[in-house]
Amino acid sequence: MEDKNVEERIYDVIVIGGGPAGYTAALYAVRSGLSVLVLEKLSPGGQMTNTDQIDNYPGFPEGIGGFELGERMQKGALRFGAENQFAEVKSVELSGPVKAVRTRKKEFKARAVILATGAYPRKTGIEGEERLAGRGIAYCAACDGMFYKDKTVAVYGGGNTAVEDALLLSRICAKVYLIHRRDALRAAKVYQDALFGSSVELIWNSRVTGFLADKRLTGVVLTDTGTGEKRELSLDGLFVSIGRIPDTKLFEGQVSMDEAGYLIADESTCTNVPGVFAAGDARTKKLRQVITAAADGAMAAWSAEQYLAGEA
Ligand code: NAP
Repeated sequence: MEDKNVEERIYDVIVIGGGPAGYTAALYAVRSGLSVLVLEKLSPGGQMTNTDQIDNYPGFPEGIGGFELGERMQKGALRFGAENQFAEVKSVELSGPVKAVRTRKKEFKARAVILATGAYPRKTGIEGEERLAGRGIAYCAACDGMFYKDKTVAVYGGGNTAVEDALLLSRICAKVYLIHRRDALRAAKVYQDALFGSSVELIWNSRVTGFLADKRLTGVVLTDTGTGEKRELSLDGLFVSIGRIPDTKLFEGQVSMDEAGYLIADESTCTNVPGVFAAGDARTKKLRQVITAAADGAMAAWSAEQYLAGEA
């Protein structure tokens, strides 16, 4: 008897994750004549949707909003017949020739799977962070910056995202600090130049080691990394921007990962599991950008096509 919770059809390719890697993989795979299903838990675009302006994806000389670029990538793949469902994947079984991908409501099957689940913001791990998230602690300036219009905020971190967030907030907020644990930024020179010419005040060699709060965050405790000296900084908001964690827990025990949890694959996107490919920010790589994610998507589709041709 047919089980309504199991999709009988076996797709050529299931893509898990609807960011630039996922939709590019879908576009290339479907244009190669493969049947493709993209499973995405929220909205098209992945982490791009948290970026208000993308200026380094070629073809958009005035830049483009992350949400819009995500939608455009989705439409491009669907135009050629890729299917798309919005559902969170709860478990996978990747070892056999037919792989199972289960959402809360349904099980889907495919002969190849492309893992394009991306990476999400790292938390500080300081007590109270969870309670204060959305009450003074935020992780995305493009999403939440307007809530802090004319207020005093800090960004924590020294990478591209932190500097980008600080610059964005400096156009909205009364005062912006950038708190970094070292005396040199990791961010690219182009971002640093913009930062040093802005109103953002830098607090070097400092870690956030505590939160001050009533119902909302009222400030942070800073600890000097050299002297160990502590001081308090009054704030209306803290934007935590201390890097990303790959969203790969689902694949633990099935696909090889490095210590940080990134899926081990080279440029071919082939993982240790036949028929399973890793594309985008979730893969081990040096540069995590929209364009490198999209490039991975194309490569993963090609690798999947080769694999399926060999299987046929
Ligand atoms: P990132 O480059 O990994 O930077 C993370 C920053 O947070 C670093 O400055 C790091 O300090 C700090 N940090 C990490 N763990 C910390 C902790 N536990 N406590 C305090 N500070 C901590 O991450 P990202 O800025 O989110 O960027 C992620 C990737 O996206 C990067 O490859 C980046 O280049 C790319 N990106 C590109 C663009 C663009 O080009 N338009 C924009 C945004 C992001 P240390 O420096 O001391 O390690």
